[in-house]
Parts: sequence; structure tokens; C-alpha cells
Amino acid sequence: MYDRIYNFAAGPSQLPLEVLEEISKDLFNYHGSGMSVMEMSHRSKDYLAIFEEVKATIKRIMNIPDNYQILFIQGGATEEFSAIPLNLLKKGKADYIITGNFSKKAAEEAKKYGEINIAYDGKEDYVHIPSQNELKLSDDADYVYICANNTVYGTEWQNYPKTRDIPLVADMSSDICSKVIDINDFGLIYAGCQKNFGIAGLGLVIIRDDLLYDNGITKPVLMDYRIQAKNDSMYNTPNTFAIYVLGLVAKWIENKGGIKELQKINEKKARLLYDIIDNSDFYKGHADKDSRSNMNITFALPDKELDELFVKEATKAGMVSLKGYRTVGGIRASIYNAMPIEAVEKLANFMKNFEKEHK
Ligand SMILES: *Cc1c(COP(=O)(O)O)cnc(C)c1O
Repeated sequence: MYDRIYNFAAGPSQLPLEVLEEISKDLFNYHGSGMSVMEMSHRSKDYLAIFEEVKATIKRIMNIPDNYQILFIQGGATEEFSAIPLNLLKKGKADYIITGNFSKKAAEEAKKYGEINIAYDGKEDYVHIPSQNELKLSDDADYVYICANNTVYGTEWQNYPKTRDIPLVADMSSDICSKVIDINDFGLIYAGCQKNFGIAGLGLVIIRDDLLYDNGITKPVLMDYRIQAKNDSMYNTPNTFAIYVLGLVAKWIENKGGIKELQKINEKKARLLYDIIDNSDFYKGHADKDSRSNMNITFALPDKELDELFVKEATKAGMVSLKGYRTVGGIRASIYNAMPIEAVEKLANFMKNFEKEHK
């Protein structure tokens, strides 16, 4: 009806069609208010009702306990690379587990503000998620930092590290709400919303109350979690429209039966592609089998020319943005919550046929 194609981009990425329809239905006149959400004052009654409902929905679907704050922060995920050390360093030391480019960048940023112990470094190819005994954690860190899903490399934590009473901080930009997690395992989780949970221009931060301490570090006002929490993310004008879209995506998740149901579908979707990779000597998976992501499926064909041809022919067939990240090469299929299983089945069939034709 809309002549849409399947967009396998890593982010910004495909949104659920139902969400786009809802946005278009309300674009000119939101629920009889006579205006678009984009035009509303962030302090108006109509907008505050949206805002409270967004928070409540996120809290319900993610099962967030009362002792956590939900913050909406502009600046994407990268802003938190700076805000996390600025807010959480207390004694001045943190452990970073490096499993990809984004955790590496986060550690480099944190080094500006404190002593950073690299508890594990996956180096260059980043095919592996470490097990507990591979980590060199310190006893006196203020927090332990991980990237839950490595968007570029297609690896994902299955068992989060045990950090005893040291808060675990996780970048969940590319797998938030893709599977059930226990928020209590984390001191702070955050995500840039444009991958699995909405649109660009918004960062979601979920932080445990006891981590909203004054650490005496001078920081930009908008990066101060205490100020953001105290002002309910409205110290200044928040990204009103992106928060509204986030709420629609959260509602969509709830209507689908919640994260638990989506997790089952996500596992099924990933298996469709990994089964082909595992049963083929044509496609080669990038990540170690026990470290693979259910969100970003990375693999390569026997040579670069075939990689390029694959992307070209898939595009012709209505499946776009399958080219791997520039440092990894090959193919990357990002199959977030919003990617329907029919699209993944179509890609799986395409892969089988392509192998037959080009082997
Ligand atoms: C995309 C991504 C980022 C960077 O997000 P921005 O919103 O562009 O800053 C950080 N971490 C992960 C895991 C990502 O996938």
C-alpha cells in the first residue's frame, strides 16, 4: 500500500508500520488538541499527559522497579560516553570491558575524567564476548561498563558479567527491549533510541536512585543526571516528538505481548539466518557462535566482489542497507524488533538462492 521496502540498516532503522500509521493519523491534530505533537509546549497539559504515559509504558514493559529513574536526554548514545564518568566516578576509577568500537570509544572518553582499567579488550576483530574468568575486574571501581550488543560486529552479551556490589553500566542502544532482562542487575542502562526503540535525537537513561550522588565533579548542566532527574528531564526543552514516538513504540511492544513475546520472535528470526550460515561453506559468520547477536547478523561471502553483488541484488529485491560496517566489511543484517519475520524469511530465501547461483 505504501510501496515500502525492507530496511536492514543498523540505525536509524525501520520503525513498526503501525507506529508510522499512528503518527500520520495524529500528525495534524493530536487527539482533538488541534495541533501536532511537534507544535505543543512541553509544559502543556496535552504534552505532559503524553510524557507521563510514555514513562509509565516503558516502566511497565521493561518491568522497571520504583527505585530507578527514567531520563530522556538529547545527544544520542555518545553523549552518555561522557556523562557516565562525569556522574558516576566517585573514587575516580572504573572498569571498562571492550568488545567493540563503541565500548572502546566510551573508554577513551572516560579516560579524560578518571583512571580507566581495561578489564578485557577484544581487539581488532571483536568476534568474542568474554566469560567471567576472562575479565580482570578491579576491587575498587566505581562502576563496570559494558556494551550489551555490538552493533558493528554482531556480538551480544548472553550472560552479563558478575560485578558483586559494583554497579554495572550497559550501553543497550542496539538491543534494548529485544529480550527480557532484570533491571536490578544494572546500576544504569542507556540507549540511543534510533535503533531498537524509536528515532534519532533521543537518549534513554535508566538509573538507580543511589547512583544519583554528588561526586563533586564540575559538569555541563545537561549532563548532570541529578539535575535531569530533579527536573524530570525538563530542565530545558526535551526532544518532545522523539519522546512521543518512543511512547508509541513502547505501546506497540506492549500490544505485541511484551518483550517476552518479542524475544521469542527475535530468536526465531536470528536462527533463520544463522542456520543458513552454519550449514554453508559459502557464507562465513563473523562472530564466535557463543557470542552472536540476535539483532545484528554479520557474515561474509567468499570474496569482496560477491559481497558487493549480494548487496546489489538484495537491493533490487527490496532489501536495503545490508552492507557491513566499513571496518568489518561483508554483510550485516540488522533485524531489530520492528523487522517482521516475513522480511527475514525473504532474506533467508534470497541467501539460499544466491548461494546456489554463485557457489
Ligand atoms: C549506534 C550506537 C552508538 C552511538 O549512538 P549515537 O546515538 O549515534 O551517539 C553507541 N552505542 C551503540 C551500541 C550503538 O549501536
